[in-house]
Amino acid sequence: MAGFLSSTLSASRLAHKVERTMLIQQLRNATMILELGPHRWVVDPMLSAAKAMPPFKVLGGGRRRNPTVELPAGSDEALATVDGVLLTHEHPDHFDAAGRAFARARALPVWTNRVDAGHLRDKGFDARLVEALGEGWSVEVVRSKHGRGAVGWLLGPVCGYFLARDGEPSVYVTGDSILCESVLEAVERLRPEVIVAPAGSANFGVGGDILFSLDELVTLANKSGAQMVFNHLEALDHCPTTRASLRERMAREGLSERVWIPEDGERRSYHGTRGARPIVTRPDQGQAGMQKRMTALFSGA
Ligand SMILES: [Zn+2]
Repeated sequence: MAGFLSSTLSASRLAHKVERTMLIQQLRNATMILELGPHRWVVDPMLSAAKAMPPFKVLGGGRRRNPTVELPAGSDEALATVDGVLLTHEHPDHFDAAGRAFARARALPVWTNRVDAGHLRDKGFDARLVEALGEGWSVEVVRSKHGRGAVGWLLGPVCGYFLARDGEPSVYVTGDSILCESVLEAVERLRPEVIVAPAGSANFGVGGDILFSLDELVTLANKSGAQMVFNHLEALDHCPTTRASLRERMAREGLSERVWIPEDGERRSYHGTRGARPIVTRPDQGQAGMQKRMTALFSGA
């Protein structure tokens, strides 16, 4: 992609953030730091110690307590300076008890979508709509599907966020999803320069995959032409895909140059400009169904 470079940041450069640089620092699973515009968010904070939560897998081998790994070294320092939470959905691997306690202790605003905002406000959070980020932002809440059939319905409704500012790379954090029509349509219309997608290809042992399969990740990378960041890996008992197998597959597809599969704790900056091309965005169409109340209960008070 012309005029588009990415590089790993040194600690000293991180301390003096370069204007027009987007920073992503992977912490664990879907939890990462995202610096964009004036914000430094923690995305989907699952901050519990290893084994604090029960297995997510219902059937089959490999059931273990979650998270299966600790947060990486440097997480406390990375989290110390965030100014808000960016939350895709309320499931416990994206906003757990420790993540909620962290947000409450720091009185952090929780930037989210209209479906989750109401429940979060009921729980006492300062929930704000990503759509209301305001001047300087082009934002779209992209509705998605967290699986197929009954399992997908039960785990929904979910979404991801497209975020763009003049002079910075645009990013689409897909949130937990399979490759559905709305995701493909958004990628082709909005042309994000960076896409962050969950790559653990999770399943409960019943009901099929609830995240992108490896084939779907390849399709997403090929159709978008974007710089891909794959996370949601090697931290939960129901996500069987390994970083090594994903790297091997991406290499076979000729996608290694455009795909970053960060280790926990790794960070990378993205430079570039979207230019003057206008971005058309649509209002969030999300509706809270009764399954939303059930999953909100699971995610705790
Ligand atoms: Zn998840």
